[in-house]
Amino acid sequence: MKFTDLNPKREIGAHSLHIVLGEFSILIDAGMSPKDVGLACLPDYTRISTDSVDLILITHCHLDHIGSLPCVHRQQASARLLMTAASAEILPVMLQNSHSVMLRQREELNVEEYPLFTRQEVDAVSDDTFIMVFGKTREFIKGNDHLKITFYPAGHVMGAASVLLEHQGRRYFFTGDILFRRQHTLSGAQIPTQEVDVLVTETTRGLAELPATFSYEAEVMRLLEAVSDTLQKGGSCLLPVFALGRLQEMVTVIYEARRRKILPRRFPIYCSGLGLAIVDVFEKIYRNRRQYGIDYQPLSPIAVPGSSRDTDYPLAPRDKSLFRRHFLQDLGVRPLIGKYIKPGHDIKVPSLFIMSSGMLAEHTPAYQIASALLPFDHNLIAFTGYCDADTPGGKLLAMQPGEIFPFEALQFNSPIRAAIQRYDITGHADREDLVAFAMQIKARTIVLSHGEEDSRKWFCDEFAKLLPDVAVVNPEPQATYEI
Ligand SMILES: [Zn+2]
Ligand SMILES: [Zn+2]
Repeated sequence: MKFTDLNPKREIGAHSLHIVLGEFSILIDAGMSPKDVGLACLPDYTRISTDSVDLILITHCHLDHIGSLPCVHRQQASARLLMTAASAEILPVMLQNSHSVMLRQREELNVEEYPLFTRQEVDAVSDDTFIMVFGKTREFIKGNDHLKITFYPAGHVMGAASVLLEHQGRRYFFTGDILFRRQHTLSGAQIPTQEVDVLVTETTRGLAELPATFSYEAEVMRLLEAVSDTLQKGGSCLLPVFALGRLQEMVTVIYEARRRKILPRRFPIYCSGLGLAIVDVFEKIYRNRRQYGIDYQPLSPIAVPGSSRDTDYPLAPRDKSLFRRHFLQDLGVRPLIGKYIKPGHDIKVPSLFIMSSGMLAEHTPAYQIASALLPFDHNLIAFTGYCDADTPGGKLLAMQPGEIFPFEALQFNSPIRAAIQRYDITGHADREDLVAFAMQIKARTIVLSHGEEDSRKWFCDEFAKLLPDVAVVNPEPQATYEI
């Protein structure tokens, strides 16, 4: 296999892998960096000649995996796009929203090249999509060459897949973004334990050190207690979340908590635009869950890494998986009217805001609410997912109480008086789980991807200790490796 990580930086950012297996030229994901602007946020597609890619495989619909798909689809007009049915539903909503954001940024940030694609190009992506069903192997033929592809549920978010490629007797497994333990709204990854020759693993959480006693539910309870305390003392709470996945998970947690009287009954809850649009897609997927493969039951034993020990989910909905739209109606969730929120002006009625962006990116509802809540010590800003250190969210988490936080996009500086907390309720596998998984599927070569430099270093060190006979590749960006 010829392997090139097209992400120009060794970080999470614009995820896209170029794979050559015999006659086949394959792209896995076509992301966009959330923290760069303009052409700098794209993977380096100039390395691939026009119209040479046969297949583009999409693991899931976060923008760091699909944000540049219309751009590469334009260059690779003959490529077949493969994704799950759920991803095919979510993808146009995410990309049309990204198009709107770019139009706005063209004005606000003066980025001439925005938008990087048109609405019609998003429609063209949807028209060329070929649906993959979890666990069902498809064979592709080119000349005399054969390639088998199987998608497996990866947990993480609705529709997310890990990918197995089988070519000339060798097996190549790509985790994509993966979570082995279940969430309140989704089952965990279901990956067969069969051995693989090459494992390409995500490395998002290499720096996340968890105590041996850690449990997802205990962390959820810790968050709920903080939210309850804040509301009861007259403060407001902001949960900055990703619109796809985290928002629906957090709404479900709050819904269950209120039903069980863990949270006070009366306080307004607000959610933001894109997350609400995705709610409608999730409802459609729920209603057609058999067709969408959500009920996938693997026949072979599946990998269950050691630290996925959260079998007990007292708070989770009885209907084991999936978010429902009526949770929002039952909670009386309202859309946010932005013009009533002003930097430095506290929210009068104690409220809960579940808003994107998860990293508190500028010009987002979460950023705007944070500018109102931050100067007051009875408020809470609670992060629940991954936060890049270079984003406003990452910077806020690194600062101390009392320091001055600059809301540059609003030309407003605020002392950090609200409580800033982090809760480990992420959609990514713990690092120990990923190592245990690599051992269970007896990978002979491990390739690191989708992680920051320090995070990858932890994996390199750990694999060197535990798997001294396994070759570990931490690829340089844009360099091609024969693996
Ligand atoms: Zn993701
Ligand atoms: Zn990702």
